[in-house]
Amino acid sequence: MPTNQTTAEAIRVMTICNACRYCEGHCAVFPAMERQTVFTQNNIDFLSNLCHQCGACYQHCQYADPHEFGINVPAVFEQARRESYTQFLWPTFMQPAVLHGGKFMATTLLLAISLFFLAIVGLSGMSKIFAPQVNFYNLMPHSVMAGAFSLSAVMVVVSWWMTLRRYWHSISLPSPGSIRMSTYRVALASALTLKNLDGGHGEGCYESGESPSLWKRRHHHLVLIGFVLCFFATLLGTFYHYSLNVPAPYGWLTLPKILGVTGGIMLLVGCAGLFWIKQTADQRLVSHDNGYGSSLTALLFLTSLTGLGLPIAKGTGALGFLLAVHLGCVLALFLNFAWGKFIHGFFRFIALLADEHQKTKKN
Ligand code: SF4
Ligand code: SF4
Repeated sequence: MPTNQTTAEAIRVMTICNACRYCEGHCAVFPAMERQTVFTQNNIDFLSNLCHQCGACYQHCQYADPHEFGINVPAVFEQARRESYTQFLWPTFMQPAVLHGGKFMATTLLLAISLFFLAIVGLSGMSKIFAPQVNFYNLMPHSVMAGAFSLSAVMVVVSWWMTLRRYWHSISLPSPGSIRMSTYRVALASALTLKNLDGGHGEGCYESGESPSLWKRRHHHLVLIGFVLCFFATLLGTFYHYSLNVPAPYGWLTLPKILGVTGGIMLLVGCAGLFWIKQTADQRLVSHDNGYGSSLTALLFLTSLTGLGLPIAKGTGALGFLLAVHLGCVLALFLNFAWGKFIHGFFRFIALLADEHQKTKKN
């Protein structure tokens, strides 16, 4: 495979880092780098996804600008990671979704909102959509929503399977069944605790300068936990609706509502925090991504905002329109799960798994 410009720069940087080795204690990248006998496209795809963009190695590097070596590991790895998402994405004709993430998000969002608006009009009639409504299932039945999103979920899972198995094979991991359970456990713990965002000393990232801070890690955790709570709220709601014959919508003190509202608020705060951190970050640590990184944060924020707005709009003429906007946000989010920034979590987990597997193989 021909080496592109980003990979060539990543190989140059890794070759210098491998001679220097000053940053060994910062994160998993540098010990993993030392285990490689040669730097290739495949192990740059592995090492770049192991990097969590904490910025510690850049702030501490004696060979960063203005030194003639101009070493900047986080910036080159951020670009290399995005290229790995593009390279392995399935189907390949969706690659522009990574290359132009902001435009992809805006277009899918607009189309999805229009689609749900038209579907509600088609199912209930134009007069009903702006009339005061108490229950939004009068506008679109639960079964229609569940059917549409179940189909979308199947599409997402197929896309993940195809994309991730390509990445898995490229970084030379053996079959999933031959990897030890303890390796999965350690990799999962590293992924869930965001261990590699602690700067190597537990004080956090250097995203906005020379002083470490734990805010990126905290906001990332808020988003992760908020997302999981909302996911369980949806599952539980579906279980109540179909298995217990307790139809939605649910009161404020029911379990699906408590999980959904708590998760929604955590998502709002976490996404706003991550957005703020990105805006104020040291721009030398990031590469221009055409809105790819922010698209996921924006969609999660809009989905939670409109989801939390639905019970508030109950009994008003705004409910129908807000429902179309909310469902449009959810559908655009599903498309982002398959072809947007969401897949970074899986790539990172597989890289952590490969790292742990290499370590245990060596011992
Ligand atoms: S980032 Fe700089 S200081 Fe750290 S290992 Fe590489 S060259 Fe050395
Ligand atoms: S930016 Fe942080 S996580 Fe990435 S290589 Fe440097 S120290 Fe490691």
